[in-house]
Amino acid sequence: MDFDLFVIGGGSAGVRCARIAAGHGARVGIAEERFWGGTCVNIGCVPKKLLVQAGEYGAWADDAAGFGWSIRKGPHDWNKLIAAKDREITRLEGIYRKLLNGAGATVFDARAVFVDAHTLDVGGKRVTAERIVIATGGHPVRPNIPGAELGIISDDAFYLKAMPKTVAIVGSGYIAVEFAGIFQALGAQVHLVYRQPLPLRGFDQDLREGLAEALGHQGVSLHPGCHPAKVEAHDKKRILTFGEGQSLQVDLVFFATGRRASTANLGLESAGVTVNRTGAVIVDSHLRTAQPHIYAMGDVTDRVNLTPVATAEGHALADTLFGKNPRGISLANVPSAVFSTPPISTVGLSEDQAAELGPVDVYVTRFTPMRHTLSGRQRRTLIKLVVDQATQKVVGAHMLGEDAPEIIQGVAIAVVMGATKADFDRTIGIHPTAAEEFVTLRTRTRVAGVAKAAE
Ligand SMILES: Cc1cc2nc3c(=O)[nH]c(=O)nc-3n(C[C@H](O)[C@H](O)[C@H](O)COP(=O)(O)OP(=O)(O)OC[C@H]3O[C@@H](n4cnc5c(N)ncnc54)[C@H](O)[C@@H]3O)c2cc1C
Repeated sequence: MDFDLFVIGGGSAGVRCARIAAGHGARVGIAEERFWGGTCVNIGCVPKKLLVQAGEYGAWADDAAGFGWSIRKGPHDWNKLIAAKDREITRLEGIYRKLLNGAGATVFDARAVFVDAHTLDVGGKRVTAERIVIATGGHPVRPNIPGAELGIISDDAFYLKAMPKTVAIVGSGYIAVEFAGIFQALGAQVHLVYRQPLPLRGFDQDLREGLAEALGHQGVSLHPGCHPAKVEAHDKKRILTFGEGQSLQVDLVFFATGRRASTANLGLESAGVTVNRTGAVIVDSHLRTAQPHIYAMGDVTDRVNLTPVATAEGHALADTLFGKNPRGISLANVPSAVFSTPPISTVGLSEDQAAELGPVDVYVTRFTPMRHTLSGRQRRTLIKLVVDQATQKVVGAHMLGEDAPEIIQGVAIAVVMGATKADFDRTIGIHPTAAEEFVTLRTRTRVAGVAKAAE
């Protein structure tokens, strides 16, 4: 065999797995067909957050007046921002490639597809490997409606030639609400068109309601309960029709309507690897596919589609196979963030999820953060704890408000450790912060869920 391990895909999962395995002394090959670092570095987390940060400066310039500053806000230069973002992404992509070379992996800038269960075609070259990892990630999908090709997907949003003046974003998942915040903050009029009554299906109800309110305060026009029907071109404009014949004329239609695992034309059938009905590779708890020497990880398995999960899986598998340290990772209590304006962050169960399991004590507080008592900006912070009544363990911690992701990362350690409400209560706060509310929530807001009948 040419390699002990061959990794298909140089994204978060693949690069980490290849680098660590090579560091353990394995003969490793890795193929990437498009860009090293994958989605996160090139068209995901990193450039997205840079755009969010770009938007924040505009709001701060407005807010400063309340603190005595007279800052005259000039126009925003989209092309300058995109050029700066591109320079940073190019730098990061170079680092990823360097890390792989430094670890001793053999790097292929090519597409890899299965020929059989141990053989790959890598850019026209046959290579064989003892073990193979599928880490090909996912891609955005447009809805199946007439004119869908006239709209963009998130991949395109990072390379727009100009900032649109009006945008209709279709969808209400995290990518949709993040880009609604970005475009609105950079000066566009944004419409968010979605089927659900509230954005962010699957998140805690209080966060969803709080976010809808915050989007409204930011100036985003919300169109809940609307099903997009078609898109038409009218000169350079786009007309999005939805609901009962309602339509919007905008410069840009942006479909943030979901993602699919990238498994098409990979030759999985020739390798005996099975996929589910959406095309995601089916794996067991050890990341093994239907072929025990072929593994899959990250977004291509469509479980918890986040970069830190992908990298943790890649690292754990490399340690298990080549580092004499067999281990897995837990997908329970994975903290996550939505970089909306303001952001959301969450760890553990939502109130509804927890209430399904038994009675929970719910603590919620909403307040105007100190900064906005002077800035005058209409912005509220929401902090919430969900506590299992029987054990008093904090099973969910949620926040909508500035710095939420930075704060919840720390709170997540306590939740993963199984901290109780009493542990939170005996922790002294840091004053004056928003985060101190997590340790000063004394009055229960409500009880949710019902006791399960004794079996
Ligand atoms: C707009 C957006 C924002 C996001 N924001 C966040 C965030 O804030 N936080 C967060 O944690 N996650 C975020 N994510 C999700 C995150 O990007 C993914 O979870 C992560 O990139 C998954 O890593 P991966 O290695 O599984 O796949 P990917 O990063 O997608 O990497 C897969 C790689 O495989 C390559 N490839 C595919 N097929 C082949 C083949 N046959 N041969 C060779 N190469 C191939 C692809 O070109 C790609 O580079 C975001 C995603 C998007 C789209």
